[in-house]
Amino acid sequence: MEVEESGGTSRRKALWLLGAAAGITALGADAARPSGGSSAVASPAATPRARPVIHPTPTPTPTPTPRAASWTPGKLIALDKPVRELSELAPPAPPNSIALTIDDGPNPTWTPKMLDLLAEHDVHATFFIIGEQVKEFPKLTRRIADAGHQICNHTETHPISIAHMSKKKVRKEIVEAHDRIADVTGVVPQFFRSPGGAWSKTVLELVAEHDMLPIDWAVDPRDWARPGVGHIRRAMLKGKENNIILCHDGGGDRSQTLKALKTVIPKLQKRGLTFVAL
Ligand SMILES: [Zn+2]
Repeated sequence: MEVEESGGTSRRKALWLLGAAAGITALGADAARPSGGSSAVASPAATPRARPVIHPTPTPTPTPTPRAASWTPGKLIALDKPVRELSELAPPAPPNSIALTIDDGPNPTWTPKMLDLLAEHDVHATFFIIGEQVKEFPKLTRRIADAGHQICNHTETHPISIAHMSKKKVRKEIVEAHDRIADVTGVVPQFFRSPGGAWSKTVLELVAEHDMLPIDWAVDPRDWARPGVGHIRRAMLKGKENNIILCHDGGGDRSQTLKALKTVIPKLQKRGLTFVAL
C-alpha cells in the first residue's frame, strides 16, 4: 500500500509523545460525555495536558530527550485525554492558527458543497470520516484528500456507545476504517476522533496502538442539532488562536452549518486567523 501525506500536512508528519506526562492514567468522569459535548464553547483555561510531539517517520532522526526513553519505536504512548487545542500538538502551529474539523462524512449532498466553500476561501480543513461511507463514496473521499485536506479516522460505523465497547469491538471499528481510508486515498490517518467525543481508556490505548492521536475540540456550535444559523455562527465566532472547531458535513441536513461557515470563515480570516489542517 502506498503511503503519502495529503497536502498541507507535512508540518506534523506524525507525532510521538514527549514526557512521562503522556503515561496512561485513569480517565476522569468527563471523558465520556454525551454526543457533541455539553457546552457551546469550552473553557479556554484548559488543564495542562500531555504534549504529543513528533513521531519519527519518515525522515528526521528524533532529537533524543531524557524523556524519550519511554517512547517505543512505532508506537505512540496513549494520552489520558484527547487533544483539544492546536497548542498541544508539536511542532506548534504557526501563530494565529485555527483549525476547522468536519465530521461524519463523506456525504454526497453536503461534502461537495463544503469542499466548494473551503476552496473558495482557500481553507484547509480536517475531515473525520466514517469507514462505511468511504466504502459507499470512494470518489468523494478521494476528492477530499486531493483537495489537500487532512483525512482522519472517525470509526467504521460511528458507534455512539464506543466508550463502553469491548477492546475487540473498538479495535475492529478503528482497523476497518483505517484500512478503508488507506486503500481508497493512500493516506494513513494520523488522527482519530471518537463518535460523540466519547472516550475511554480502551479507546485511547487503541488509538495510540494504531499510531494516531486522539482529537477533540474546543469550540462546539452543536450544529448537528440544527440550532439555527445564528447560533452556529455566534458559537464559531468565539473561536480564537489555537482552537479546534467542530462541525459536520454528514449525519443529516447540514445547510445551517454551511450557511454559518459562509460568513464565519471570512470573518475569522479578517481577524488575522489562518485555518490550518491538523
Ligand atoms: Zn461523528
